[in-house]
Amino acid sequence: MIETRQYGEVLQIRMSRVFNGQPLYWVAAYLVDGLLIDSGCQHTAQELVDFLSDYHVEQIVNTHYHEDHIAGNWMLHQQRQIPMYAHRDSLPLMRQVPTLYPYQELVWGYPQPVDAQELGPVIKTPRYTFAVLPTPGHCPGHIALLEKEQGWCFSGDLFISERPKVLRPEENVHEIMKSLQYLLNCAPEEFTLFTSMGQIIPKGRQAVTNLLSYLQSVSQQVLELHDSGHSLDDIRQILFGGESRMAEVTNGQFSVNNLIMSVLTHGN
Ligand SMILES: [Zn+2]
Repeated sequence: MIETRQYGEVLQIRMSRVFNGQPLYWVAAYLVDGLLIDSGCQHTAQELVDFLSDYHVEQIVNTHYHEDHIAGNWMLHQQRQIPMYAHRDSLPLMRQVPTLYPYQELVWGYPQPVDAQELGPVIKTPRYTFAVLPTPGHCPGHIALLEKEQGWCFSGDLFISERPKVLRPEENVHEIMKSLQYLLNCAPEEFTLFTSMGQIIPKGRQAVTNLLSYLQSVSQQVLELHDSGHSLDDIRQILFGGESRMAEVTNGQFSVNNLIMSVLTHGN
């Protein structure tokens, strides 16, 4: 299922598999001046390709290698020879079939391996220039795209919400905080945030600042509680009132535990 929304020059393409009549989970791609930013999951790949047959697409940039961001690449590349670009660290991961948990298989499916090219420091379209910002933390090889003159930031999965309670085990909260700070340093005073969750946030700086402050505060509280001898269970209960229900349905992949462990294990 695809829903679109035009925001000035930017077309948002939200995609979700429909299961038992319900959309399962929305992931957004964006099309601007012939540049496709991300390409959704395998279950919606054919629909995306059909939808894009009416549009001029000159190049694809993937913000990261996750299965819900790259799966339209293969068919677009096969049918239209559209070049694909991603961060150097993502390339080997896009060339292999990932190992997925059952919930990932159900919601997103397995992407076809693709051979993308390495992104340089900028990517240009006929009318715009996007700075490529390496922003690891959600995973290695994550990038955000920043069009400074227009005040657009395509943030991939760097920004999920202002107050996330769960992380995946591979996420590194300290790197996420560094990446958020880097984005704030590079971005113009005012910018609009276009997230992979589908939010379009005109006050992007405020939203990113709020997320950064929240993560700094949570990290500090976790470390203080840990230093004063509290167990993981205690910390989870005191700060978050227990584990999230997300943990159960995602085979423990999205959990409060992972957030706390990331603060404690990845160091400062
Ligand atoms: Zn992701």
